[in-house]
Amino acid sequence: MDAEIAIIGAGVVGLALAQQLAGTRQVAVIDRNAGYGYETSSHNSGVVHAGIYYPTGSLKHTLCLEGNALTYEWCGAHSVRINRLGKLIIAVDGTDLDALDAVAGQAASNEVGAIERIADPARLRELEPSVRSVAALWSGSSGVVDQLGLMASFAAAATERGAWIALKHDVTAIERAEGGFRLTMRGPDGEETTVTAETLINSAGHGAPAIAHMLGYPLDGDDRTPRLRQAVNKGRYYDIVTPEKARAIRHLVYPVPEHAKGGLGVHVTLDIDGLVHLGPDTEWLDDSTVLDYRADGTRRAAFHAAASRYLPSLLEDDLAPGQVGYRPKLQAPGGPQADFLIWRDGPYVHLGGIESPGMTAALAIARHVQQLL
Ligand SMILES: Cc1cc2nc3c(=O)[nH]c(=O)nc-3n(C[C@H](O)[C@H](O)[C@H](O)COP(=O)(O)OP(=O)(O)OC[C@H]3O[C@@H](n4cnc5c(N)ncnc54)[C@H](O)[C@@H]3O)c2cc1C
Repeated sequence: MDAEIAIIGAGVVGLALAQQLAGTRQVAVIDRNAGYGYETSSHNSGVVHAGIYYPTGSLKHTLCLEGNALTYEWCGAHSVRINRLGKLIIAVDGTDLDALDAVAGQAASNEVGAIERIADPARLRELEPSVRSVAALWSGSSGVVDQLGLMASFAAAATERGAWIALKHDVTAIERAEGGFRLTMRGPDGEETTVTAETLINSAGHGAPAIAHMLGYPLDGDDRTPRLRQAVNKGRYYDIVTPEKARAIRHLVYPVPEHAKGGLGVHVTLDIDGLVHLGPDTEWLDDSTVLDYRADGTRRAAFHAAASRYLPSLLEDDLAPGQVGYRPKLQAPGGPQADFLIWRDGPYVHLGGIESPGMTAALAIARHVQQLL
């Protein structure tokens, strides 16, 4: 065997896995793109989530909580830029108060630390002078991280521990071989090469169902296979480009969530460089969609309408189209929320539906998979 463990996918999760498993095992990471994290891991909000919204005891809840602490610790130790700037979940008016209470209840049930209910108008104004709200929940463990820096630090740690990372290699076929797997990959010049591994971890994000299909798993599941089929949910961002309006935002600001639509509602995030983004919105697409990461300027009026509910001075002209990301969803359109799927079948591990909070949870997912193995 060429490697003890092959990981398909050099996104934030595949790289977190690689640094966790390398050292004691020979690890190979394979990715079809020319650099790591070119897909979902570099097209997200960069928020280090606190673990508030997810059903208590779900993997999203437990791995987010654990991953939040691990991410701050890792970034401190590896000089990755991270800012624990805090987040406000706001009730814009009285009609949001029940939903805010529900979020507060979920945060308590999930034992999320550093949560405070704020209803004092002076305090709300002091925290976010340009935001309209009648009450809010403060989350002190929420922050933002340099996503690319985080992935670079995982890749460096993995290679220092002896892992190799093969970019520009698209896995096109997999056979079960004696003692493991034989992967066929198409390289940058179209040539085919093979690599063998005892254990295979499918951390291919949007590509995960296709990899499982190569192994013969039924995507809609059967009595021994969970449902592996994923839908795609597009999230667009618009950036607040008027300097004084952008500078007025000091924290992450989220209206109460819209789980049924597949997202958290159009919210305000500051990234690690201090730029201010609105979004992402939600649009269900089917799993055959070709992912186009170009900025999409078709929704300015809708973003303005959603955000001006709590940013009353915002004008459409303050907004410019920003990045686009795609959520890999096990949740069916309009269906109940789905948890992360981390499924082991002998020497095969499948990671499915690794949408938000997957970046926050990456280090905890890596530990979880190590225990599974
Ligand atoms: C709009 C949006 C906002 C988000 N915001 C946040 C946030 O604020 N905080 C947070 O914690 N999480 C957030 N997330 C979630 C987070 O970005 C993902 O959970 C995380 O990036 C998933 O990482 P990954 O490594 O599983 O997948 P990916 O980054 O998609 O990596 C998978 C890799 O597999 C490779 N691959 C696929 N098929 C093949 C193949 N056949 N051969 C070789 N390589 C292959 C791809 O090239 C890709 O690089 C957000 C997601 C979206 C879409």
